[in-house]
Amino acid sequence: MHPIIIIGSGFAGYTLAREFRKLDSSSPLIIITSDDGRSYPKPMLSNALSKGKTAEQLALSSSEAIAKTLNITILNNSIVSDIDPQQQTVTITNVTPLHYKHLILALGATPIRNVLEGNATDDVMPINNLSDYTKFREQLVNANHVAIIGPGLIGCEFANDLINTGIAVSVIGPSKLPMQGLLPEPIATELKTTLSNAGVDWHFQSTVTTVNHATTKNKNSYELTLSNGDLIQADVVISAIGLCPNIQLAKTIGITVNRGIVTDEYLQASLPNIYALGDCAEVAGHNLLFIAPILAAAKALAKTLSGQTTAVKYPAMPVAIKTPNYPLIVATPALLAKGSWQFESASSGFGIKAVFTNDSAALLGFVLSGDMVSEKQVLTKLLPDILA
Ligand SMILES: Cc1cc2nc3c(=O)[nH]c(=O)nc-3n(C[C@H](O)[C@H](O)[C@H](O)COP(=O)(O)OP(=O)(O)OC[C@H]3O[C@@H](n4cnc5c(N)ncnc54)[C@H](O)[C@@H]3O)c2cc1C
Repeated sequence: MHPIIIIGSGFAGYTLAREFRKLDSSSPLIIITSDDGRSYPKPMLSNALSKGKTAEQLALSSSEAIAKTLNITILNNSIVSDIDPQQQTVTITNVTPLHYKHLILALGATPIRNVLEGNATDDVMPINNLSDYTKFREQLVNANHVAIIGPGLIGCEFANDLINTGIAVSVIGPSKLPMQGLLPEPIATELKTTLSNAGVDWHFQSTVTTVNHATTKNKNSYELTLSNGDLIQADVVISAIGLCPNIQLAKTIGITVNRGIVTDEYLQASLPNIYALGDCAEVAGHNLLFIAPILAAAKALAKTLSGQTTAVKYPAMPVAIKTPNYPLIVATPALLAKGSWQFESASSGFGIKAVFTNDSAALLGFVLSGDMVSEKQVLTKLLPDILA
């Protein structure tokens, strides 16, 4: 019997394998992964520093330990370079193609690269996996100042984490406020002020154009030139300008892709016996790059693969943003939702409740900050499902 093959050993691949094994203890299952197959909590990459965690301490299990516990085969450090949907095979470079019964694409997303000039652009680092985090920790030794390109969710989380360890932080981006588009203005303004007071040096409405090795001061540091002419010296430069779902492999074999690999509510891609979940997938129109939808998708797909065809359902899934100096919970309204924001300040003076309602006063989304995050549970119950 041909095995089920999962490509990817991130939260999506491993959660699916675990959920599948709860329902089927013996069908052959192979995970192929381009990394070393260690399992780790990716969300902790952006708050591990202030918790004093090294990459080794973040890693929960080796691929060998997972393979043994789940009774599966894991081929790590193996890149899938091709898929033959007719023959139902996957090709790993220099290895005989492997046949699959069902193929699951759990390929994740790749950091978008900045278009920069200068002689140190290769040193600008995204932090999107354990090996990036290892390099980041190495670079931080003796570092006093970190520049973060991108004042979005991930950039703000790293800024808060770094500042809480006593490292100076500059954050640069074209927007007027942090997490623009995600946070309503009054909350983004409070976040900006709170992190400023903690020491974050914001450079809004400007972009980084050039990153050079510093010629003056410390030769290991960098000099950043901004579009407004400002110069910033930093010992480490992080890029956090967004992620792009890994769709290329699917696209080359003719699977329908959009922002992500397009699937229906059964996680089925446009070719038979091929499924997708996690950051790479666009499930019934939703490309949601966070943990809760992956868990829901993995549970549904595990049932389908074990013979009980099951559609995924997404309830409302508010996300806690890891900016502990200014706690935030975000339940973003659907892109085309019609309505308006209303705001209420916390009686303590720390935090805001922002609710997005339609003409009939139905709640469609919210953002809570500071002391108002305690209202999360009550409000979540009032939100509509994302995918019913
Ligand atoms: C810094 C950071 C903080 C975050 N914080 C939160 C948070 O607080 N809350 C939250 O809900 N979410 C958070 N997220 C998002 C969440 O971590 C991701 O949505 C989730 O981990 C994605 O899992 P995945 O398995 O889809 O992708 P990944 O973890 O990226 O895994 C993809 C896998 O595919 C493999 N792969 C790719 N291409 C190939 C190939 N051709 N051949 C073989 N293998 C391949 C890779 O090696 C990897 O194993 C955060 C993300 C980041 C980066």
